[in-house]
Amino acid sequence: MKAFILSIGDELALGQTIDTNSAWMSQQLASIGCDVAGHMTVSDDKIAIRDAMTYLVGLCDVLIVSGGIGPTDDDLTRFALADAMGVELYLDEGWAKEVEGFFTRIGRVMPKQNQVQAMMPVGATSIFNTCGTAAGIRAKLKGKDVFVTPGVPKEMKAMFDRDIKPFVKTFAGGAAIVSSTLHTFGQGESTIAEKLGDLMNRSRNPSVGTTVSGGIVSLRVNSRFESVERATEELRKTEQQCEALLGDLIFGKEDQTLPMAIASLLTQGREKPLTVATAESCTGGLIAKMLTDLSGSSSYYMGGFVTYSNKSKYERLGVNMEMLNVYGAVSEQVVLQMARSARRLMSTTYGISVSGVAGPTGGSPTKPVGTVCIGLAYLEPGGGKTEDHVFSMARTFQLPGDRDMIRDRSAKMALTLLRFHLMQKPTPFQ
Ligand code: AMP
Ligand code: MG
Repeated sequence: MKAFILSIGDELALGQTIDTNSAWMSQQLASIGCDVAGHMTVSDDKIAIRDAMTYLVGLCDVLIVSGGIGPTDDDLTRFALADAMGVELYLDEGWAKEVEGFFTRIGRVMPKQNQVQAMMPVGATSIFNTCGTAAGIRAKLKGKDVFVTPGVPKEMKAMFDRDIKPFVKTFAGGAAIVSSTLHTFGQGESTIAEKLGDLMNRSRNPSVGTTVSGGIVSLRVNSRFESVERATEELRKTEQQCEALLGDLIFGKEDQTLPMAIASLLTQGREKPLTVATAESCTGGLIAKMLTDLSGSSSYYMGGFVTYSNKSKYERLGVNMEMLNVYGAVSEQVVLQMARSARRLMSTTYGISVSGVAGPTGGSPTKPVGTVCIGLAYLEPGGGKTEDHVFSMARTFQLPGDRDMIRDRSAKMALTLLRFHLMQKPTPFQ
């Protein structure tokens, strides 16, 4: 069974209110195996609503509409539906009494205008509203089922759970859609798609799609089968295929973040957690912020330095002034010293550092905006104690975007280098 969701309201079309109803309904429908062909938002315009309904029933088996059934002049959904059906409205006496009773209970006389909330297109029936005065509407349009609910999220949800979900469930035939999300960082969407190859075939079930947010490319796997058990089994198989193709590029699932992945690598299966210190220039403390977003991070994150100027790199981390002058603050030589110093000064397992040109000013032909150097220093726990035993490495990246993006990606890239070192794997990019 396929549904389409139509939201009505000027405030939605103008972007003043976010359409949360459609997202919520889609999730509910997926959980009972009903595909959602799409969402549409239309302003409080009778003709536009009528035309949208007429068009959308051609794309689905059931059309679910929310909004525009209040008592005011801008509530036009019932009139639009009657027009689309080519019928008049009638007064649903039963619901009219309910509305009147509601006003009597709160000690008020029903405003005449509220009677419209009991008006139904001929051939349609009202749907009981457990928490408001607007009855929902159930109708047939061009042979397809149409449900109209109030726009108020609380009322919509109650009506959906009580009357719409059981109806759809019967027709969806007990099918189920089970979904999961896998997150990667370090490579672009098209590279990930190339690696996944046929897994992203549009006709495949389970399907695999990608989305990008904050440089994190996420794979969304949707599995549609006759039962939850089968859908879950097939979902797991596809997840394993994705893992086989992308390997360690996948850092987590569902709500798992990069700092969480690092937290578990630093702590899990260890008597004493491995520890980290940071030295940040262009990220201005963003890595520290990301690491400390997690409660309990004090067991492995010891602290750090924000050394934005050359002076502070020299005074607080002892970065060699000559090196700063010769190679520049954004150089592998400097981030190596920053990482080593932070590690030594905080007596940690790891030191990680970042220095880059976040822009929009400060770029040069040899170091354009987006040039970012990341350093990592590591002293094996229980190994030698001197600086000679410290392993260190530095990498230079050319990151895209504006200042915010460059700083965000720099921090995530630094965490990613740390993650790969913790897994004792080479980074699979650049
Ligand atoms: P209505 O039923 O059209 O009078 O809508 C009542 C109120 O519910 C509006 O003022 C919005 O604040 C809210 N609302 C309506 N539609 C939506 C929607 N799709 N998502 C979230 N809120 C909504
Ligand atoms: Mg409205």
